[in-house]
This record gives sequence, C-alpha cells and structure tokens, in this order.
Amino acid sequence: MYAIWNLTNVCPWNCSFCCMSAVGSKNITHQTKLLNFDEKMDVLRILASNNVKIDFSGGDPLFYSDDFSIVEEATKLLPKEMIDVSMTGVDFTQRKLSLVKKVGKVEVSIDNPPGTLNKFRPAGFNISAIAVLEKMAKEGIFCSGVTTLYPETVKKENLLAVYELLCEKKVPKWNILRYYLVGRGSNLSELELSEEELLRTMDFLDSFKGFTEIAFQHSLRILRGQYRCHAANKSIGILPDGIVIACGWALDGNSRPLRGFKLGKLPQDDFGGIIERAKNKLGYGECKNVCRIISYLKENTPV
Ligand code: SF4
Ligand code: SF4
Repeated sequence: MYAIWNLTNVCPWNCSFCCMSAVGSKNITHQTKLLNFDEKMDVLRILASNNVKIDFSGGDPLFYSDDFSIVEEATKLLPKEMIDVSMTGVDFTQRKLSLVKKVGKVEVSIDNPPGTLNKFRPAGFNISAIAVLEKMAKEGIFCSGVTTLYPETVKKENLLAVYELLCEKKVPKWNILRYYLVGRGSNLSELELSEEELLRTMDFLDSFKGFTEIAFQHSLRILRGQYRCHAANKSIGILPDGIVIACGWALDGNSRPLRGFKLGKLPQDDFGGIIERAKNKLGYGECKNVCRIISYLKENTPV
C-alpha cells in the first residue's frame, strides 16, 4: 500500500491550477482544521506499522518545521525506499538537503525551461525547480523532475527542452503526469488534453534517448492498456486534516474529497477497517481499466 500524504496545504508558490488548492505561504488567512504534531505522529505510526509506503506531499511538506520533523521521524521508522518526498525546493537549506538524503526519492515539478512564460505557474517557478534538482543530483540524491501535460507544456519543443535540461543536469528521472480537472484547476477545462493527444505525446516522449529515465504516471499507462486504477487497492491519499481518500487527486475546488472518494479519518479510525470498508462497500476492491477520477468527472459534468 502506498499513501500520498499531504502534510499541509500551504505552499510558497500559488499555481493557479493547483490540485490541492494550496494556500500561498505569504497569504495564510484561513486554514481548515489541520492535524497537530502529535496526531500526525499517530498517523505516521499507523502507516509504518501497516507497512505503507509514504509520499510526503502538500503544499510543501518541508515548509513547516513540525512537518519537517514528521518526515525526519519517518526516516527513523521506515526504510529509505519506503519514503518519497514531493516538495518545491524553495528555501532549500542545508538541513533540508541532509534530510532528503535519507529518503528514497524526491520529486520537484518543472514544466518549462527557465525563462519560459507560463501563466499557470508563478515567475521563478521553473528556475527554482531546476536549481534544486541540479543540487540534489550533484549530491547523489535520487530525484525526479515532474511535468504535467497541458497546453503550456505539451508542445514538442518544450518537452525536448525540458528533457535536454534534465539530462544536462544529470537528473535521474522525469515523471510525466496527466492533468486532472480537480482542485483549483476544476474549471480550467481548456487545460485538459484529449486521450489521443496524450497517447501521441507519450509516443513522442518514447523517442527521447538520454541520461534521464522517463516514467509515465500510471493513469497515462492506463490509456495504453498497461495498467489499472489502484485507488484504495494499492494506494490512498491523506489530507492535512487526516481525511483518507481513495485517490490523492480526487479533490474538488475546495480541496475536499470528490463524492464517493472519502474513506475515513486518521488517526481516530481503524486503518485496516478503512481499507476493508472501501473494498467491500465502496467498490474499490477491483482494479478498473479506467481512471476513476476521469469517470467521475465525465459523469458529473454540469450540463
Ligand atoms: S501545484 Fe504544487 S507548487 Fe503549485 S501551489 Fe500547488 S502544491 Fe504548490
Ligand atoms: S483514480 Fe485515477 S489517478 Fe487515482 S489511482 Fe485511479 S487511475 Fe490513478
């Protein structure tokens, strides 16, 4: 089992299509009720004792010192290969560098080469991303650039330029993600690519040869018939307030679970019970050959 655990919804960036509807760190006016440090430690122990691999995400999971401590504690409870961190790399101190040396993989989003105007990402986003990826690669940390496919990224020249940059900086991996109409991006339907365009893009990316390994997110591999949806079967999401969801991306415009995706709440609910209920009552026991989020969005499109 694999959990994407959004420790916080606060982020130094403020991307206009953020799937977590992250709150900009300079603009924190209101917060949903978040788990406190002790509750997060309880959640961590539950996940560790159930042998769950954790992807610490956010927001920025290394923004708050309490969350930094949770990741640090995770490195004591779990082997390195059971911990990933998806972070921004903003304010990447020596302390953070030392911490991420103790985790299995670190992911940082990068959509374009520095200097490219992208209205959905704040100024400086890609410059910061490549700088931190380069630093981690030089330190021998297993890191990955992450690019989401939408009209500002999918052009051939953009993909080629990002790939060449990652190869030049010796970044070991490049993860390619599908764009979902979720979170703050729920209304940005113009960013969604057709399945045909996604498949064509994957074929194009397959032709790239270089240092950096390219990996397609499983929801893209589903389009090729190579994978099946594993929501609540092999993976779950955990929100900053402890709500457990069947898939980490299944969020509405207020960062709340899409209908039918909420499974329970940690640390108070029994973890095994959450997963069993999801499989038995909510129909998550069987892997499907379609992405459940895409199905949900198709069925619930306002007419
Ligand atoms: S998309 Fe990522 S980097 Fe951008 S605001 Fe959301 S959490 Fe932060
Ligand atoms: S709902 Fe979609 S994104 Fe979530 S696990 Fe299934 S295929 Fe992956």
